[in-house]
Amino acid sequence: MADSHNPAPVVSAALFERARRVTPGGVNSPVRAWAAVGGSPRFIISGRGAQVTDADGIEYLDFVGAWGPAILGHANPDVVSRVQAAAGRGMAFGAPCPDEVGLAEEIIRRVPAVERLRLVNSGTEATMSAIRLARGFTGRSKIVKFAGCYHGHADNLLVAAGSGAATFGLPGSDGVTAGAASDTIVLPYNNREVVAAVFANQGDQIAGVITEAAAANMGVVPPLPGFNAHLASLCREHGALFILDEVMTGFRVSRAGWWGLEGLREGWAPDLYAFGKVIGGGLPLAAFGGRADVMDRLAPTGPVYQAGTLSGNPVAAACGLATLHGCDNAVYTGIDRISRSVGELVSGALTAQGVSHVLQRAGSLFSVFFRADGVIDYDQARLQRTDVFAAFFQAMLAAGVMLPPSAFEAWFVSAAHDESSLDKLAEALPAAARAAAKAQDAGGR
Ligand SMILES: *Cc1c(COP(=O)(O)O)cnc(C)c1O
Repeated sequence: MADSHNPAPVVSAALFERARRVTPGGVNSPVRAWAAVGGSPRFIISGRGAQVTDADGIEYLDFVGAWGPAILGHANPDVVSRVQAAAGRGMAFGAPCPDEVGLAEEIIRRVPAVERLRLVNSGTEATMSAIRLARGFTGRSKIVKFAGCYHGHADNLLVAAGSGAATFGLPGSDGVTAGAASDTIVLPYNNREVVAAVFANQGDQIAGVITEAAAANMGVVPPLPGFNAHLASLCREHGALFILDEVMTGFRVSRAGWWGLEGLREGWAPDLYAFGKVIGGGLPLAAFGGRADVMDRLAPTGPVYQAGTLSGNPVAAACGLATLHGCDNAVYTGIDRISRSVGELVSGALTAQGVSHVLQRAGSLFSVFFRADGVIDYDQARLQRTDVFAAFFQAMLAAGVMLPPSAFEAWFVSAAHDESSLDKLAEALPAAARAAAKAQDAGGR
């Protein structure tokens, strides 16, 4: 792929060659391999604000945002100095530390239905542990999840999953036994009737319902009005737990996550939440929390086991706490505004070239579906022109704009995206929209 403005990424290509000899596919998480868009992934050396710089010294305006954590922009000075200070005191002690208490307190201040919180190291661990806890608490085994929602890669949730599983068209995963998946009931997203029917039939066996607060791993597909409230009330009625996965939306779309935009107004709250991404500020940290009577079933106060050598790690906790402290109301207002402008620019450019697309939002999260009609579930999400997206992606890259390398991923803006970011975007868009139009006309899969 020839870069029109930039030198060829020869250092990244050489690194990718080396990486493929020692790491499956050359990457430590599948979507990073750029299989869906082609070309050699850029190895990123540094980032500052809304920009990242690759191993060839090429700068990009970044809309990956570390897949969410970089909400304050890369290398935010306050966060960096808190992390450096924490690292200087030692990396880990295997004992409680003050910042993990501060982080839990900050989260509880923002989301009052979180009465107790436990820190873990990844979103995968957070949802996996929440599911175990729901089963332990209810004494039931079945879990309801929705097709296209991604909750990490624990066996019982890796069924009809979004994110990389959507990008690669994998319905599930080899290595997940029928046993591990058999207690997972997968239902179409945004379909109230189907959930109600399943509860009517087997409500007494369902330990919990897990859903993305707003689905954003099959592209952005917000819940239809009343869908989450419906899940909350079905769970309450049948004695199941409602688990809201806010790993992506939490502390990003508002100071209290998606729940702050919806549940707070509608008067419902989940029994358990999963958090990740933003709350670690870029270091490996995630959490699950919720009702005290449920959370207190965890060891050491209760019989549900859950643990972690590095859980509540002092450097990660300092990074997360500094990031949340930086996320004040002005940050959320600014991100909302920039996200809206970015969406309008992108949509306007595609429309001008006659590219079929729908831009969908969940608060400040958005993605572009390359198809004519809106999307409410995974079956519809999959029917888009991923070839058109790939052409668009490559042309944006050539102009120095880094998009998430899959049509099934949300775009991330940060508090560091500003008017100059919009200028750079606006400059890149016309040629990229033309490339997308050309791919659309060439026909496709
Ligand atoms: C990213 C994500 C996860 C998994 O988190 P990891 O830290 O990658 O394990 C779970 N749920 C949602 C909604 C996510 O977006």
